[in-house]
Amino acid sequence: LDEVKTVDIDVANAITEELARQNSHIELIASENWVSKAVMAAMGSPMTNKYAEGYPAKRYYGGCECVDIVEELAIERAKKLFGCDYVNVQPHSGAQANMAVFFAMLKPGDTVMGMNLDHGGHLTHGSPVNMSGSYFKIVPYGVNDEGFIDYDELRRIALEAKPKMIIAGASAYARSIDFKKFREVADEAGAYLMVDMAHIAGLVAAGLHPDPMPYAHVVTTTTHKTLRGPRGGMILANEEAAKEFNFNKAVFPGIQGGPLMHVIAAKAVCFKEALEDSFKDYQQNIIDNAQALCKGLLARGIKIVSGGTDNHLMLVDLTNFNLTGKEVEKLLDLAHITCNKNTIPNDPQSPFVTSGIRLGTPAVTSRGMNTKDMDVIAEAISLMIKNGEASTEEARSLVKSLTDKYPLE
Ligand code: PLP
Repeated sequence: LDEVKTVDIDVANAITEELARQNSHIELIASENWVSKAVMAAMGSPMTNKYAEGYPAKRYYGGCECVDIVEELAIERAKKLFGCDYVNVQPHSGAQANMAVFFAMLKPGDTVMGMNLDHGGHLTHGSPVNMSGSYFKIVPYGVNDEGFIDYDELRRIALEAKPKMIIAGASAYARSIDFKKFREVADEAGAYLMVDMAHIAGLVAAGLHPDPMPYAHVVTTTTHKTLRGPRGGMILANEEAAKEFNFNKAVFPGIQGGPLMHVIAAKAVCFKEALEDSFKDYQQNIIDNAQALCKGLLARGIKIVSGGTDNHLMLVDLTNFNLTGKEVEKLLDLAHITCNKNTIPNDPQSPFVTSGIRLGTPAVTSRGMNTKDMDVIAEAISLMIKNGEASTEEARSLVKSLTDKYPLE
């Protein structure tokens, strides 16, 4: 940071303040994490200077021998981690990985089934404001009144719509996803199955969530959520699909130019960390913490969509407190707890207001917090939901007891 300070004090100050914010707040945004120092250092390395259009040993630029090493390492480690035959580590983000898959497997106008955004799906799975929703005919599926994916309804819709592709995967779904069932439905409907495991990739790598690889034609992911790597995307497939579809060509030159080699170096470091035994313990702790937080909230009369969680996140239903997600996001921010408002199934409010909040435990777990600490967080959240601003001081001091106990460096 000293170098930034010398050149640009405004940016240096913003970075310092961001670090202080991360240190003094409890981070419950389910898609965020706190990367290791090694991952951070690889991202801030001279690999950022290098142009490397193309793929290892087949580049459009000279001087690629060192970046080739890191891209090969990232690919080989990801194959080992997820047990697959093909990986592309170049997508700049999860959205780019999804777009490349669409470009490789679909034609504009094709019918695609994705999870309804209001039920937990992602923008890139068919929202009208996203390229996916403008170029394809989107038929949504969703969850039942209890908050679980309705597989019978999924099958009924698929057999009627006959989509070219079904996308499984979500941004705000707290339950295990049955990829075998998805594949059975896809086969019956004559569709490809794409799994977007962005949120649960770390759990999948650790064997703590059902594995999509045996069932999906193609899998996409981000690398920065439970997986705890740099911000980025990735495409994975088995041999058959990798032969049939040219995912490499779809990424470059299809939708991207030069790969971010510093980020690919950091992906390689992240995958090495994820292959270690301790990564399994870390992922188990994420789940244990999510379940402990859920339990703490339920014990305090706070409703959780589907009544619990199987993974790293939960959706809080605020309707019985007559509060919106927007209001509670702001209230928790006062208490130094960061989360995001989120629609709940059949939400009467708009996506800008919502009736819920989404909470996740990857970042607090990376910080070292345990299940007992989750009960302290549940108490702080409960104070703010029940008493509003009046409880700010009390909730903040609970937060401070934890942030002081687990300082970030
Ligand atoms: N897919 C899912 C399921 C996600 O939750 C997200 C991001 O939240 C993405 C894709 C997009 O990832 P990115 O923000 O890296 O483009």
